[in-house]
Amino acid sequence: MFERILYPTDFSDVAKKGLDFIKQLRDAGAKEVIVLHVNDIRGIDLAVLPASKDYMEIERALEKIITEEMGAIEDELKGAGFKVKVRVEKGIPFREILRVEEEENVSAIVVGSHGKSNIEEMLLGSVSEKVIRKARNPVLVIKR
Ligand code: ATP
Ligand code: MN
Repeated sequence: MFERILYPTDFSDVAKKGLDFIKQLRDAGAKEVIVLHVNDIRGIDLAVLPASKDYMEIERALEKIITEEMGAIEDELKGAGFKVKVRVEKGIPFREILRVEEEENVSAIVVGSHGKSNIEEMLLGSVSEKVIRKARNPVLVIKR
C-alpha cells in the first residue's frame, strides 16, 4: 500500500513532520519517495516585474533555497534507506500535486494538514484540502 509515496512539501514545519512518519512506513513496505515542491506561480506578480533586476534576484534566491531544502530532504530519506526522486514543478500547488500523483503512479500521499500559513482557525490548509478531496490514492495527513 505504501510502496511509492508522494511527499509534497512547502518546507513548513508541519510538512517536515511528515518525514518522521515516512521513515516509519518502511516497516509497512515503503521503498521509494517522490519528493515534490511546487513553485507557486501566483506568488510573484510576473506581469509587473518581468524585466526587473530585483525580480531576478528574488528568483535566484528562491531557487537556491529550494535546491538546499530538497537536497537535505533527499539526503535524509536516502540515509533512511529509501530510493528518492526529487521533483520541482512550477504551477498551482494542488494541481501539480495531483498531476504528479497520476504521472508517478504513486500508492499513497503524505501531506501536512497545514503549511506555511498555518492559520489557527483553519481545519486544513487550502492545498491539503484539495488534495484530500481529489486524490485517487490514500492520503496520510500529518497533523500540526
Ligand atoms: P494556505 O496555503 O491555504 O494559506 P497552509 O499554508 O497552512 O494554508 P497548505 O498550503 O494547504 O496549508 O499546506 C498543507 C500541506 O500541503 C503542506 O504541509 C504540504 O505537504 C503541502 N503543500 C502546500 N504547499 C505546497 C507546495 N507549494 N508544494 C508542495 N507541497 C505543498
Ligand atoms: Mn500554503
